[in-house]
Amino acid sequence: MKLTDAVEVNQAGHLMIGGVDTLKLAQKYGTPVIAYDVSKIKKQIADFKKAFIEAEVPYKISYASKAFSSLAMYELVAQAGLGCDVVSGGELYAALKGGMPPEDIEFHGNNKLPEEIEMGVEAQIGCFVIDNFQEIKFLDRALRRKHAKANVVLRVTPGIEAETHKYISTGQSNSKFGFDVQSGQAKKALESILKNPRMNIEGLHCHIGSQIFQAKGFVMAAEKMVDLMKKWHDELGFDTKVLNLGGGFGIHYTKDDQMIPTEDFAKDIIAAVKSRAKKYNLKMPEIWIEPGRSLAGEAGTTLYTVGSRKDVEGVCHFIAVDGGMGDNIRPALYQAKYEAYLAERPNALNEQIVTVVGKYCESGDVLVRDCLLPNTHPGDILAIPDTGAYGYTMASNYNRNPRPAVVFCENGSSRLVVRRETFEDMLSCELGLT
Ligand SMILES: *Cc1c(COP(=O)(O)O)cnc(C)c1O
Repeated sequence: MKLTDAVEVNQAGHLMIGGVDTLKLAQKYGTPVIAYDVSKIKKQIADFKKAFIEAEVPYKISYASKAFSSLAMYELVAQAGLGCDVVSGGELYAALKGGMPPEDIEFHGNNKLPEEIEMGVEAQIGCFVIDNFQEIKFLDRALRRKHAKANVVLRVTPGIEAETHKYISTGQSNSKFGFDVQSGQAKKALESILKNPRMNIEGLHCHIGSQIFQAKGFVMAAEKMVDLMKKWHDELGFDTKVLNLGGGFGIHYTKDDQMIPTEDFAKDIIAAVKSRAKKYNLKMPEIWIEPGRSLAGEAGTTLYTVGSRKDVEGVCHFIAVDGGMGDNIRPALYQAKYEAYLAERPNALNEQIVTVVGKYCESGDVLVRDCLLPNTHPGDILAIPDTGAYGYTMASNYNRNPRPAVVFCENGSSRLVVRRETFEDMLSCELGLT
């Protein structure tokens, strides 16, 4: 069995995360627990940085914190000198609590509430990524009231043909995000922002989708965006200082996912912008990217304890674990695929094909379908790697199951960064009737 490099093995043959034995992790913190290998997050950050530094282009890396928005992650990312994206008042609150400098925060979202916009203005965040006409109004109102100014970036959908490039899912005209370019509404929005003395427009933004494996999609988007820079330079005299190309860099979930090294991805994108800008004689813009899953995803592994089993010969073989859709909704939500390993013997011969299910009252509560595993017994620890992004942040209390604990592991030691929820926590908002 080939292991993802999300997991190492120690001399006893046990899976390790960040140099810590996973069986010890399970024992110490209980299960389910999401364990992060911190060095993996740091490596991804370093690789992205390296590509920009080597290409000698001005850049900013803004972590899309919806992927994993714990205080520890904001702290780690801020320490590494990255900024972050937030998409709600709650994420903004957490980012600030996590020590993220306000000027390094970008506010995203297709329906920012007036109070969320005010919160951003109050905190003097780095920029608002303007998504729609209503937001221009709300932001203007907040800025007038607070006698403030704000930096903004205009989010557009460059209109890439989804038929020819199926991996692109938010760059097309019918996306709910951003201003459509083809119909002329993006230009209208830009004109209105340019006229507004309270808004300082720094540049343009596009995000073409997620879990993209071909640099080609990004390169196409980058070229379209530079074309747009040229067009608006000529038509409106607008100079784009910042070109934000979003996130969506694909990661390994199963052996079918062919990774392109982070650095190569970034290199192709930078090269595309460089050559296109040169062709049009435009000043090279600052390139901003917004990786989410590619910073947090592969670093995280969820550990579960195996419980009950159901076998109907020739029909189904289920093994159930003590978590499921409450800590990882992705398989139920969009048929996301994962691999699973027995923590005690990840390299043991696979003897069965089973479906790993959770403990929630939904038939769709499946974690891994047709999973190859050695024989398992109740009490065994099962590890599902690559669960570091959109796992904990999408977690729920369905069936009143507490959300799991989260630990950071590095150099052989572990540290609890989010404690397991208690039954009491789950009732903390309840007022009851009496
Ligand atoms: C979700 C999102 C990202 C991050 O996507 P990943 O697939 O996690 O890298 C970046 N930018 C925007 C605007 C997003 O909506």
